[in-house]
Amino acid sequence: MHDATPLIATIVGGLVLAFIFGAIAHRLRLPVLAGYLLAGVVAGPFTPGYVANAGIAQELADLGVILLMFGVGLHFSVKDLMAVKAISIPGAAVQMTVATLLGMGLGWALGWPLAQGFVFGLALSVASTVVLLRAIEERRLLDTDRGRIAVGWLIVEDLAMVLALVLLPAIGGFLGTGQAQHDQSLGELAKVVAFTFGKVALFIALMLVVGKRMIPWVLQAVAQSGSRELFRLAVLAIALGVAFGAAHLFDVSFELGAFFAGMMMGESKLSQQAAEETLPLRDAFAVLFFVSIGMLFNPGILLSSPWIVLAACLIIIFGKSAAAFVIVRAFGRPIKTALTISVSLAQIGEFSFILAGLGVTQGLLSEEARDILLAAAIVSILVNPLLFVALDRWVKRSEALEVPVVEAIMPDEIEPQPVSSLAGHAVLVGFGRVGRRVFEKLRKSGQPVLVIETDEDAVRPLRENGGAEVIVGNAASVAVLAAANLAQAASLIVAVPNPFEAGQIVRSARAERPDLDIVARAHSEECVAHLAGLGASRVIYGEQELARSLFEASCERPSAPPVF
Ligand code: AMP
Repeated sequence: MHDATPLIATIVGGLVLAFIFGAIAHRLRLPVLAGYLLAGVVAGPFTPGYVANAGIAQELADLGVILLMFGVGLHFSVKDLMAVKAISIPGAAVQMTVATLLGMGLGWALGWPLAQGFVFGLALSVASTVVLLRAIEERRLLDTDRGRIAVGWLIVEDLAMVLALVLLPAIGGFLGTGQAQHDQSLGELAKVVAFTFGKVALFIALMLVVGKRMIPWVLQAVAQSGSRELFRLAVLAIALGVAFGAAHLFDVSFELGAFFAGMMMGESKLSQQAAEETLPLRDAFAVLFFVSIGMLFNPGILLSSPWIVLAACLIIIFGKSAAAFVIVRAFGRPIKTALTISVSLAQIGEFSFILAGLGVTQGLLSEEARDILLAAAIVSILVNPLLFVALDRWVKRSEALEVPVVEAIMPDEIEPQPVSSLAGHAVLVGFGRVGRRVFEKLRKSGQPVLVIETDEDAVRPLRENGGAEVIVGNAASVAVLAAANLAQAASLIVAVPNPFEAGQIVRSARAERPDLDIVARAHSEECVAHLAGLGASRVIYGEQELARSLFEASCERPSAPPVF
C-alpha cells in the first residue's frame, strides 16, 4: 500500500490495528496497552508487511499528549500546583539524579563513554506523561493528594526536560571539546541555561498574567455567539495554539504549553465544563501514541543485548521507584501515597525517546543504546499496569487488616472508613447542584444525613460546619458504600448524573437491603428503566420535573392565560 495519502493511511492503519490487537489483548485478560504496542510493532519497519509512516505516527502521538495535558490542566488550578510544589520539586530532582546516576553506573560497567552513560541515565529518569496520566485517570486519582503530587512531579520533570533538550547539544560540544576550551564552553553553557530559564519564565508569566484574563474572555465572547461548534473550535484552537506557540516561540515543550492553556481555562468553572466536551478526541490520539512507540521497537535487541535491557528495566522499575518511595516518605506522606507515586513513575516513554533521538543525532548515544532504551521503555510500560494491580491489591488488603491509623488518612482519598454509627439516616450520594438542594430539605426536616461525594472541595464546607457525616469517595465502590451503614439507613438518595455509576450504586445497595427506600436521579427514559431495573424504588426523571416546574411557573404569572 504505497499511499498517496500517508496521513489517512497512518490514522486508519494505527486505529484499526490498535483496535484489533487491543480487543485480542482484552480477551486474553492482558492490558489493552499491550495490544496497542503490538499493533505498533506490526505496523513498524521491523516486521514484514504494512509499514506505517513513522514520522506522521509520531506527530499524531504528540497531538495525543497535547490534548491529554490540556485535560489535566483543566482540572488543575494554580493553587493545586503551589500546594504540591514543596514535595514535587525536590522529589523529582532527587529521583532524576538517582536514576541518571544509576544509568551512568550501568554505562560505566559496560565501558561506555561518560557522555553516553549520562544521556542514557537521563533518558531513564523521565516518566511518560501519557502512561502516568492514563493510570491516574483510570483510577480517578486526579483529584486526590497523591494524584496531584504525581502530576506536580510530572510538571517538574517536564521542565527539566525542556532544559535538558536545549542543553544537550551544548553539553555535546562541551564534552567533545578539548580541555583548553572548557572555560569558554562553560560560559556558553551558563548563557544557554540562563536564556532557557528566561524564556520559560516569560512564558509562564505571560500565561498567568495575560492568558488568565484573555482565555476566559475569548471563550465568553464566543459563547455569546450562540454557536456550539464555534465554541468547541475556540477551545481546541486555544489548546493547540498555545501549545504550538509555547514550543515555537518559547522553546517550552508542547506538553507544558497545553497544560498551562488548560489551567487558565479551568480557572473559570464555566469554561472548564464546556472545554471538557472537546476532550473525547484525545483518547483516540492517546491510542496512537502507543502505536507509534511500538513502531520504533526493534525486537532484535532482545536477542543481541538481553542483559543490558534487563538491567535498564530494573533501574526503571525498581531503582526509580525506590528513590521516589524514600523521598515521599521523607516528606511524611503515608505509605500508600509513596507507593502510588513510585508505581506511577516506574516507567519511561516519549521524553526518553526524544532525548535518545537527540543523543544519537548529536553523536552522544549509540544506536544500540537507543534500541536498549526503547526496549526497556516498552517493557516498563507493559509492566506498569501490573504494578498498579499489585498496588490496588495491597491497598485493599491493608485496608481490610488495618484499623485506620490517623496518619494514614489523607483527607481526600478513598481511605478505609469506619462504618458510620448513624441509624435511621438518609444516605445522600452526590453533593452537586442537585444533592446540595436535597440536603437542605433533609436538614430542615431534622433527619440525620450522611453524604457521599467524590469531590472533596464540594463537601469541604459541610465537613467544616458539621451538619452531616461525610464520606469522601466514589459510592460506586462497594467499600465506600459499606461505610454508610445502609443496614440501618432509612433511605438512599442517588443524586449523581452518570447512569452507569448510579446503576452500580443502586445495585449494590439493593443487594444489601432488599427493603431499603432507594430514590435515584435520571436524565433519560432509558436511564429511568435502567435504574428501576436494578432496584431503585423510584426514579426521578430530571427533565420531566423541570418541564413540570417550568409549566407551573408559567401558569403562575398573573397575566397567564387560563390552562386549556
Ligand atoms: P450535579 O450534577 O451538579 O448534581 O453534581 C453531581 C455530584 O455528584 C458532583 O459533585 C460529583 O462529584 C458527585 N458524584 C458523581 N459521581 C459520584 C459517585 N459515584 N459517588 C459520589 N459522588 C459522585
